[in-house]
Amino acid sequence: MTASDAYLATLALKKEPPLVALHDVHLSFGANQVLKGIEVEVRRGQAVSIIGPSGSGKSTVLRCITGLLRPQRGSIRVGDTQVDALRTEAELIALRKRVGFVFQQYNLFPHLTVLENLVIAPTRVAGRDRAAAEREARVLLEKVRLGHKEKAYPGELSGGQQQRVAIARALAMQPELMLFDEVTSALDPETVGEVLTVIRDLVNDGLTCVLVTHEMRFAEEISDEVYFTEAGLIVEHGPAARIFGDPASERTRAFLHRAL
Ligand code: ADP
Ligand code: MG
Repeated sequence: MTASDAYLATLALKKEPPLVALHDVHLSFGANQVLKGIEVEVRRGQAVSIIGPSGSGKSTVLRCITGLLRPQRGSIRVGDTQVDALRTEAELIALRKRVGFVFQQYNLFPHLTVLENLVIAPTRVAGRDRAAAEREARVLLEKVRLGHKEKAYPGELSGGQQQRVAIARALAMQPELMLFDEVTSALDPETVGEVLTVIRDLVNDGLTCVLVTHEMRFAEEISDEVYFTEAGLIVEHGPAARIFGDPASERTRAFLHRAL
């Protein structure tokens, strides 16, 4: 690609509306105002990180994107779906097929093999053909570097391996968007790296994702865009190099100073 081709490609990308757009999102639990006007945009192919202190609302933002929580005010759009306007369970299920969510707790089905964990939702929920689902599952297990473990049960795997299966299981639904909420926080330090490696590979392959993490160096390395949240507000956002290298806000600076 020549430099001018690259420039034109950038322009074309800019014209495409963001895949995810949160605008003026407010959410309270009783009297506790947790989100106070959140603005987030994610473009197709981007890796976006949300960083900030504990309790600042990061997980709540992700749960709003999946429709698990409904904000009292504001707009949340994923592709053509106006998430805040969804009313029926069927509409929410349709959304969750398109948005993969991986949490700190991997919650694999303990009585199913690794391969079965990946095949069950595509066949039972998405109605996919079993042979095709198995083929796809094996490709995904290779991607998370667990091709040799398809017959194992979750209890026979390390925490890091189980979390990689959980990532592959979410990908088996072929989501347009993946949300990762502190997926390495519950792991032994020696298995954190293998999970981050898998996420890095996926991002390099063009996965669109939103990542909440305390692994600051990792967020800096893989993110196109970083949002810093505090007390339910986006304090600032920008390209990873700018947020980590030259934060505009004193609050971001202080947080990174403690976290790095
Ligand atoms: P973070 O992920 O940044 O640590 P959360 O989004 O989990 O923050 O939480 C933000 C705030 O919302 C916290 O004060 C938390 O106690 C509160 N909160 C989160 N979930 C609930 C809930 N289901 N009911 C009541 N309060 C909640
Ligand atoms: Mg959280």
